[in-house]
Amino acid sequence: MGRAFAYVILGGGVAAGYAALEFVRLRSDAAAGELCIISDENVAPYERPALSKGYLLPEGGARLPAFHTCVGANDQLLTADWYREHGIELILGTKVITADVRRKTLLTSSGETISYTTLIVATGARALKLEDFGGSGSDAENVCYLRNIKDADKLVSVMRSCPGGDAVVIGGGYIGMECAAALVANKIKVTIVFPGKHCMERLFTPKIAEFYENYYASKGITFIKRTAVSSLEISSGKVTTAILRDGRRLQADMVVVGIGARANTALFEGQLAMEKGGIKVNGQMRTSDASVYAVGDVAAFPVKLAGGDVRRLEHVDCARRTARHAVAAALGGDGDIDYLPFFYSRVFALSWRFYGDNAGEAVHFGDPDLAASPTPKFGAFWVNAGRVAGAFLEGGSAEEYAAIADAVRRGAAVKDVAELARQGLAFVAPR
Ligand code: FAD
Ligand code: NDP
Repeated sequence: MGRAFAYVILGGGVAAGYAALEFVRLRSDAAAGELCIISDENVAPYERPALSKGYLLPEGGARLPAFHTCVGANDQLLTADWYREHGIELILGTKVITADVRRKTLLTSSGETISYTTLIVATGARALKLEDFGGSGSDAENVCYLRNIKDADKLVSVMRSCPGGDAVVIGGGYIGMECAAALVANKIKVTIVFPGKHCMERLFTPKIAEFYENYYASKGITFIKRTAVSSLEISSGKVTTAILRDGRRLQADMVVVGIGARANTALFEGQLAMEKGGIKVNGQMRTSDASVYAVGDVAAFPVKLAGGDVRRLEHVDCARRTARHAVAAALGGDGDIDYLPFFYSRVFALSWRFYGDNAGEAVHFGDPDLAASPTPKFGAFWVNAGRVAGAFLEGGSAEEYAAIADAVRRGAAVKDVAELARQGLAFVAPR
């Protein structure tokens, strides 16, 4: 048995939702049944970032349908009804288990063969497991990951089962930092353990990290750095203790694991060119097979601003923009993507944004002093070959974020880094 579609989006996450909206916008004359989305999740595409933020609030947490795509970009809310009304087939709760690029077919877990003329791969990434690093314990009742709604529901239920208890958070990246803040909001005591020198090591400078670590400490969160959890002691299906490499024992009523993600490329290994752990695409988001595009977390694409260097970016703005670009290209557009990398996070009363590339010399500005202000404004520019290559800002206004983004996009010239540090935001502020 099988069905055929002109366009198939494989994966039903952020990129899929934005791709569908772009398709409808560009093809108002599309016939019903031209496009389908296949997702192993049971719900229509949603804004994944909500899972580590609004979803985890102790009261009045965000719930579907409120955060289906594309509300995160202040655009339309696409519920399952929207897809139906626009003749888009949503094939949910269905995993694609093999893909044959030469034959242009996908085989699903229900045994159906779906053929396509054009395929958009939007399979995202999966959370790495303790087992991926030789550990164990992921199946314990109180060990939580966070990638999808199912994970978020488990996390909420485990948090509710141990009010006032102790959580061990493994990993000091995005998931670790955002979940730690949510755990505190749920009145759970948090210890974060990770091997690096400071949190968010791949993006933050030591000085930026110091601010967030101090802020977290002021909320009662403990950091244990430069070591790792070597094993989890489990009793009656639940973790009771996390044992560190140096022998220290941490009591745990629950564990949250955020130790990185890996792009879901397996279906296409050996069939499509790969790079940077993802599917390699050109500026049109087209893969090494002319009928297949890749977008979002799974796509490695040339970033013009970085001299055409191929990057794979696991962030929501990238998913949205690459998805739109691929659809436009698949429908006949011919421009290459010109993407300004953009990452952000919001925790407690804090909020930061980063644009560009953290390459070159980091030039800090502002005063990240909690004693001076509970919500200080500070940041850094990265200066590479005499130009602003990247910019980070905590606590900025919409105008200030737009101004730093603009400075990165145009590669504002920097003659004197000491002067840049002194001027700080005044260097980019609209006059
Ligand atoms: P996903 O949104 O992961 O979607 C992939 C979809 O494909 C999923 O539905 C998956 O189930 C499905 N799928 C995979 N394989 C198959 C298969 N074989 N068959 C069928 N379906 C399949 N980024 C930010 O910039 N800011 C944030 O604040 C932020 N917060 C985040 C919070 C959390 C908890 C997480 C997990 C991520 C966050 N991100 C954030 C990252 C952002 O959500 C991702 O970059 C974005 O979701 C990528 O979109 P995508 O469509 O490529 O992948
Ligand atoms: P990250 O890559 O951000 O962080 C992983 C963290 O785990 C790092 O602190 C890393 O330390 C640490 N680590 C790696 N291996 C081990 C190990 N064996 N034991 C203990 N710690 C380890 O991944 P996350 O899991 O935090 O996030 C997963 C995905 O979700 C990413 O794609 C991310 O972009 C996305 N996300 C994005 C958000 C945002 O943009 N605001 C919010 C939430 C998720 P070290 O650096 O020292 O190696």
